Amino acid sequence: MIRINEHYTKLKASYLFSDIAKRVNAYVSAHPAKPVIRLGIGDVTEPLPPACVEALHAATDEMARRATFKGYGPEQGYAFLREAIAQHDYAARGCKIEADEIFVSDGAKCDCGNIQEIFATDIRLAIPDPVYPVYIDTNVMAGRTGPNADGRYAGVTYLDSTPANGYVPAIPTVATDLIYLCFPNNPTGAVATKAQLAAWVAYAKQNQAVILFDSAYEAYIRDPQIPHSIYEIEGARDVAIEFRSFSKTAGFTGTRCAYTVVPKTVVAYDAAGQAHPLHALWNRRHTTKFNGVAYPIQKAAAAIYTDAGRQQTKALIDFYLGNAKLIREAVQSWGFSCIGGDNAPYLWINTGRDSWEFFDLLLSQAQVVCTPGAGFGKCGEGHVRISAFNSRENVEAALARIGAALR
Ligand code: PLP
Repeated sequence: MIRINEHYTKLKASYLFSDIAKRVNAYVSAHPAKPVIRLGIGDVTEPLPPACVEALHAATDEMARRATFKGYGPEQGYAFLREAIAQHDYAARGCKIEADEIFVSDGAKCDCGNIQEIFATDIRLAIPDPVYPVYIDTNVMAGRTGPNADGRYAGVTYLDSTPANGYVPAIPTVATDLIYLCFPNNPTGAVATKAQLAAWVAYAKQNQAVILFDSAYEAYIRDPQIPHSIYEIEGARDVAIEFRSFSKTAGFTGTRCAYTVVPKTVVAYDAAGQAHPLHALWNRRHTTKFNGVAYPIQKAAAAIYTDAGRQQTKALIDFYLGNAKLIREAVQSWGFSCIGGDNAPYLWINTGRDSWEFFDLLLSQAQVVCTPGAGFGKCGEGHVRISAFNSRENVEAALARIGAALR
């Protein structure tokens, strides 16, 4: 008799976005004359930078000619892209990352979901709350947790991000083996200082642990003191894997291109205590289960690193950060405290009220959709996330409506 992976039955169904859709649809059908503005989305709204579009067209033409046609490419990514990443994203910031330590992929979601496969099942996890749900759900599927009770899985060390710690979790008092960190954070928009990341690197070294550092939103960092990469921290090459994505950097959410950095110096241990480089394990996994990102997409991604591409992606991000600034100022004028929006596209608003209640208030009184914080974890209660991914017109209209509703 065929049987299922019963760990899947432990998954707490994530109703967040379907619940939001249900409530919004119900409101829209009851009030067809009142158009709704969505500030809840985690997807970009602006088109690809022109440099990427040109590169995409040129590469598509190459695929149309026998002499320049490309079939299967290297699973890890073409050298032109890996070298551009190593030079511009790492060497330029003083980080020693070689091109062959970079694995190009079709998304940071897949990479941060798949990476857990190379670790033992009985390791101890440290996972932030609130959190991008992929980290926890993929570990539940793999059988690394107990059942869910009251919104939390047994056996996981949760890293609470609260107003008390400025939404940057404290180092756990217990030992853990695999630590997920995300800065700038989704959903809170919080960033971590060099000293805070250095403490995590020291903790990982002390515990022979590994940090999985998701920096999908690093391009939004504008404060020159805030590190963009975990490898800006001394010693991180020995204990950290980093995930990056072109999704929010250059509007690639639908185009799909990302990368994962696995330094050759980061190790994990077998049952006998012998160290194994994770680079070799991830390379084995990647080449066995993945067949590379399409050549035209990699060409489009590499165009981000040209002079024109860099200027255009900066302008794109500046545009979203301009939205975020407007939202931040408005939120503060309404009397709420919030974090994010200065080095991140998300704002995390401490409403002090039930997060679904506040969601309903904004929907019914202002026809604006936000994301209730409780959907991202227990510590998200009392908060809502507002996203800066929208047109300026929509942001301005939404803020005016919310301001009027709260008055
Ligand atoms: N990591 C974080 C923290 C995210 O918020 C997202 C997308 O929302 C991703 C990764 C996924 O990125 P990608 O589009 O490359 O799969």
